[in-house]
Amino acid sequence: MTQASSITPATPPSSESAGIISALLLKDGVIDKRQLSYATRVRSKLTTHRTMMDTLLDLGYVTQEQLQNTLRSNQMNIRLGDLLLELGYLREADLQQALGMQKELSGKKRLGEILVEKGFIEERRLLETLAYQLGYPLIELSFIALDRSLLAAIPLNVCREHKFVPVRREGNAIVLAFSDPLDQKAQDVARGFLGQSLKIAIAPRESILENLAALERTSSQPSISDDSSIIGMINTLIEEAIDECASDIHIEPMKDRLRVRLRCDGVMLQHKDYPREIAPQLTSRIKVMAEADIAERRRHQDGRILFASARHGINLDMRVSFYVTIYGEKIVLRLLNNKGTLLDIREIGMAPRMLDHFIYEALEAPTGVMIITGPTGSGKTSTMYSCVNFLNNINTSIITAEDPVEYIIDGISQCSINTKIGVTFEETLRHIVRQDPDIIVLGEIRDHFSAETAIQAALTGHKVLTTFHTEDSIGGLVRLMNMEIEAFLISSTVVCVVAQRLLRRVCPDCAETYIPTPLDLSRLNLSPNDLAGAEFKIGRGCKSCRFSGYRGRAGIFELLVMNEMVKNAILNNKSSYDIRKISIETSGMVTLMEDGIVKAAQGLVSMKEIITDLPRLGKPRPLGELRRILGVTQ
Ligand SMILES: [Zn+2]
Repeated sequence: MTQASSITPATPPSSESAGIISALLLKDGVIDKRQLSYATRVRSKLTTHRTMMDTLLDLGYVTQEQLQNTLRSNQMNIRLGDLLLELGYLREADLQQALGMQKELSGKKRLGEILVEKGFIEERRLLETLAYQLGYPLIELSFIALDRSLLAAIPLNVCREHKFVPVRREGNAIVLAFSDPLDQKAQDVARGFLGQSLKIAIAPRESILENLAALERTSSQPSISDDSSIIGMINTLIEEAIDECASDIHIEPMKDRLRVRLRCDGVMLQHKDYPREIAPQLTSRIKVMAEADIAERRRHQDGRILFASARHGINLDMRVSFYVTIYGEKIVLRLLNNKGTLLDIREIGMAPRMLDHFIYEALEAPTGVMIITGPTGSGKTSTMYSCVNFLNNINTSIITAEDPVEYIIDGISQCSINTKIGVTFEETLRHIVRQDPDIIVLGEIRDHFSAETAIQAALTGHKVLTTFHTEDSIGGLVRLMNMEIEAFLISSTVVCVVAQRLLRRVCPDCAETYIPTPLDLSRLNLSPNDLAGAEFKIGRGCKSCRFSGYRGRAGIFELLVMNEMVKNAILNNKSSYDIRKISIETSGMVTLMEDGIVKAAQGLVSMKEIITDLPRLGKPRPLGELRRILGVTQ
């Protein structure tokens, strides 16, 4: 057990005093002293951190509703910092720092404001916590929904000073959105102007201020939906997406607004909202840019935009899709070459020994088919471009058929499939071999015809690079067999199959030690001893990772290099289970899950994602053995 000491809990959770919320629950008679002391004892024995509230809820001593009632009826006595601390959303040290700053500012700023500004907590998290715990609704403001008549009763500068905005009447009550619903002074001011019956709601500070500003200029200012500002808005949006290294922009009409989200590192992120009423002009303008039919609003369409970015000095190629939804057309712009720089093959993230193996046995082999496989968004196209870049030199003729070209490389002949004008995949493949290539790159093998073209080209002495959509490397071989390619052709032409995934990288700025739970271990099918020497990390969330705990991505690889034993297994029509077993035992193959475990044990990726995103097949080998095979020192 001493060997595994690094993955057993170092310190039990601190046994801080029961806290103000527990005291209030006790005072209100929701829990009794015996329950509280039992919960305290249970909590001190847990190996993972649970807050006192979670523990009380888990034990069934308190319901969420009772908790909300107690919090609401005792609002005057609860301070935001204590609440966040007890809920486990804030660290003691961060709170103390923020309180210190508040003192320096002689109370000119609310604590919540400072916490958000310093990046100790994300505003949305803060508001959701308040909304959930206090039972107030969290509302998305859009200035068309506001009842302007209410503004006759209260001056805008008062609203701005206390960070609230009147929303609408509900019977005799007035709904008001506050950025800080615990701000008693703001509530008193609002009651002074609007009367006693207020319904409190919560909204982000920025959107309250934006809405107040919009209300102020509504009468005199021109509408934001005139043409020149629409063009400006779209250009700004695209530039922002390039800034964020986004791969896609989603513009979605919703009931009350136009929501814009960006996909960054594979994850959808809220970017901004536009007012619903500009949707027609915005859509028309993007259609003009994409050379789509402006008059057509009831059918799905697609198009393409070449965008010259003034801010970044690049030409961006975008594929645009218009999809008709019940609220209007949803627009998705895919930013094709917004992938940053082309990675050197040595920087794609393969472990040292796997990389050597890959370069010497596969990339430098003069002929044969190399397959890179994985689901959409697994990074296989980037890896393929890194391979092409490695092979690209003055004495080699390289030609591609891609759908579409996603990255332009100097010195090779790239063809983008364009079915609209008759440049189909089939037509291109018929011509490609006549171009006297040494290396042929086929964007993707998707049917018997493209598979056969790849195999035939390899048989006639070419090197072929291509991609597939399969779960793992063995799946790639099985797919070829299912495309009715003879086993002997597969075994004599395929050089290697690389399976790949992209997992999110743990943010280095907020990484903390993570101790695998018994459930993690059972899901991985490993014992603590198998993971001796591991240093798992988890990101707690900070400003530099937009509070996700992750920043950037890391490749996870499985490399199958075909040796005689694997070839024989294919020739003898062995099952995929047997082929996998033989590959692991004789070709030095490390599975995706095993490579993931090694990278998680370095603190590069999270335990959570290797469990949810990598195929779990069989029992992984112990970390020490994997590190030896891959040449990973730590
Ligand atoms: Zn972070």
